[in-house]
Amino acid sequence: MPEISSRLSNFTESVIRKMTRISNKYGAINLSQGFPDFDPPKEITEALKKIADDGPHQYEVTWGSQKLREALAKKQRKYMGIDIDPDKEIVITCGSTEAMMVSMMTVCNPKDKVIVFSPFYENYGADAILSGAEPIYVPLKPPTFEFDKEELINAFKQKPKAIILCNPSNPTGKVFSLEELQFISELAKEYDTFVITDEVYEHIVMKPYEHIYMSSLPGMFERTIACSSLSKTYAITGWRIGYIIAPEHIIQNAKKVHDFLTVGAAAPLQAAVLEGLSLPDSYYEELRELYTRKRDLFLKGLDEAGLKYTKPEGAYYVMVDISEFTNRSDNEFCEWLIKEVGVAAVPGSSFFKEDVNNLIRFHFAKKDETLIEAIKRLKTLKEKASKSQWLKEK
Ligand code: GLN
Repeated sequence: MPEISSRLSNFTESVIRKMTRISNKYGAINLSQGFPDFDPPKEITEALKKIADDGPHQYEVTWGSQKLREALAKKQRKYMGIDIDPDKEIVITCGSTEAMMVSMMTVCNPKDKVIVFSPFYENYGADAILSGAEPIYVPLKPPTFEFDKEELINAFKQKPKAIILCNPSNPTGKVFSLEELQFISELAKEYDTFVITDEVYEHIVMKPYEHIYMSSLPGMFERTIACSSLSKTYAITGWRIGYIIAPEHIIQNAKKVHDFLTVGAAAPLQAAVLEGLSLPDSYYEELRELYTRKRDLFLKGLDEAGLKYTKPEGAYYVMVDISEFTNRSDNEFCEWLIKEVGVAAVPGSSFFKEDVNNLIRFHFAKKDETLIEAIKRLKTLKEKASKSQWLKEK
């Protein structure tokens, strides 16, 4: 038989989606793969019903419907604080996943180096391999997830083509400060490097933290390829509507990559989501409040269960330290947690390049009642762990 492409030998299946499968098999509360169990805004779902009768049902313009690009440019102009041309500086993609892949393929030649902060959202490793680029990992050190400036400078000295910046960060919940972003941007300018951002949690930032767009820093729009999506903002992760905002000469090329990869995002969904983009500013303010409340509810539960964690500032994830329970693999621990405690998490090692085995990731984008039930179960963790032989083995 002919062999499968060697590209694939370097990555495994997604650990996040594997945990969802195991969770479903055992009927656990799934706090592994991050997606809400509550509904999108009514305005959007009502529009979708109407579109079923009225269309559109055929291909849209490959880089996104005119109306969607215009509405998005208007909203992003307000939040990013920069002028965006809907015809020349936006591509609508199938989720931020495609946006990131397209960005990498647009700027990277095989063997180009790309800086990736570790821990990182698992797709970036695969994106780098698929586009032929070679990642240089720079650690975000637990428990504060700060980077060492010298380590970042040394990574830039290797002349990378791009740096990937997930802000607010999945899986850490870190929101990069202005000072950190300025430090990164100065290096990007000095070493003539692109910044590819993943900003899907741009509207999920807990007070007093604020999301600062890399594109909005002085001299950075020119070299920033801002990827994001509407998945998290409107609780529509299954719709797969993402976008890239970047200068014209980059977008021109990204449009070509996107066209040949997917032709375009789903036309009826592009039409329905317009209703989301016309929601008032109060929607985004309430979203922040909603997630701040959910974070606080979940963290209080973790405190009560006696679990140690790093307090998230944004996104909807929390990294929990399991070192007091086991020194064996976090993968085994997560499987035990699903089967014995009835809650699913993602083993932290799937996000780290370094050998880190003592962290697991929960997400809290769930109804309060789901979180309360998860907490109830997590409160049994300590006792169950103390009775379980292999957990205590040294
Ligand atoms: N971004 C979500 C997470 O990190 C969903 C990942 C996925 O399945 N694409 O859990």
